[in-house]
Amino acid sequence: MKAHVNENCIGCGLCVSTCPEVFSMTDSGVAKAIGDFSTEQVNSVLEAANGCPVEAIEVD
Ligand code: SF4
Repeated sequence: MKAHVNENCIGCGLCVSTCPEVFSMTDSGVAKAIGDFSTEQVNSVLEAANGCPVEAIEVD
């Protein structure tokens, strides 16, 4: 599965706190996701996506 952080990201850091295995902050102060994540990480990724205040995390 894949996660993607879109341009809506405001850099609040919540997704990094929720799921640091997949999300990290870039030097420009927004989040990025590793491209592919494992099925064991789905719940954590979805929790991060649902918690994002600006719906910047796309999962497919
Ligand atoms: S939770 Fe959303 S707005 Fe906050 S850093 Fe992550 S992607 Fe960006």
